[in-house]
Amino acid sequence: MNLQDYKGIFVFTQQVDCKITGVSFELIGKAKELASELETDVTAVVLGAGINTLAEELAAFGADKVIIVDNPELKDYTTEPYTQVMYEIIEHYKPEIVLYGATAIGRDLAPRVSARVHTGLTADCTKLEIDTETKDLRMTRPAFGGNIMATIVSPRHRPQMATVRPGVMQKRKKDPDAKALVEEFKIDLKPNQNYVEVVEIVKKVSDKIDIMDAKILVSGGRGVGCKENFKLLQEFAEVLNASLSSSRACVDAGWTEKEQQVGQTGKTVRPNVYFAIGISGAIQHLAGMEESDIIIAINKDESAPIFDVADYGIVGDYQKILPILTEKMKIELA
Ligand code: FAD
Repeated sequence: MNLQDYKGIFVFTQQVDCKITGVSFELIGKAKELASELETDVTAVVLGAGINTLAEELAAFGADKVIIVDNPELKDYTTEPYTQVMYEIIEHYKPEIVLYGATAIGRDLAPRVSARVHTGLTADCTKLEIDTETKDLRMTRPAFGGNIMATIVSPRHRPQMATVRPGVMQKRKKDPDAKALVEEFKIDLKPNQNYVEVVEIVKKVSDKIDIMDAKILVSGGRGVGCKENFKLLQEFAEVLNASLSSSRACVDAGWTEKEQQVGQTGKTVRPNVYFAIGISGAIQHLAGMEESDIIIAINKDESAPIFDVADYGIVGDYQKILPILTEKMKIELA
């Protein structure tokens, strides 16, 4: 393998029902930073059916080039045809780096592609940077239950591939005037390459805002005590027009839903304000929320590690503090 033949950064752009998934914009944002260090460009690769209109939006968020693979066989995601297309694209264009969102689709697709092109894959990265000396991609992810951060490089194989969790990287400001070079990639996909047939797609219905989109989060931990006590947090959240989230301890106890879990094995959030109530601040929890703009912690233990990352801290029993705060905010926001 001649490493010098591989150039450019490719981002697998996930779309569902012709709507681009947020993490793809975040990856393009990060890819732009990496590309400037490598003096190369960023290509968004989008697969689907009837997706020609998506190129403009990808350009607006920073893609220099967009490769579109528009084929009825790619309408809904299935592993085999998507793997086949990504394999052909990598063989044809020889990108130096390929990034995927660590979504259900990205987590299914990226390992298949990496096996087919005989390269490595670093899953669930929280940091990507270019080694100033070797120019290799340094891919960092939590390891051993989050107790250490492992930095992984792929010095002998190309492309260098990583999945990145949604919410970790930041998308660029939208520039509606930005233009990208758009190229259509033709591939002869035969229906018999579909090993799986999609019989029906049932959409999950939820009236809750995704905690990753919330501007204010009121997050509870084991210190809340029981499921019923979450009512106090709910009342506070309603006054602030905030969403409720929690630590894993509460999900494990059945007090909150898995989709509300913040942290290494939950979601990565970056709200304007994050209230941590009865949360100790374990490293696996911090991994999902420490990038929040303002962190306000309420904990009865003044030595709780959450206070190390908090901008404001209140030491005491939340059951006494929260009703006072709720009443005060009601008056302030009336
Ligand atoms: P605790 O650590 O038990 O803390 C409870 C806190 O509440 C204490 O600090 C206590 O002082 C305070 N408190 C108690 N009563 C009150 C009161 N009345 N008023 C105010 N404060 C009070 N955790 C996550 O959150 N997210 C993850 O994604 C995640 N992933 C993990 C992955 C792995 C591989 C492993 C090993 C662990 C993971 N964990 C995760 C678990 C993590 O290590 C902690 O166990 C968990 O975060 C602890 O939750 P907690 O802070 O709610 O509970």
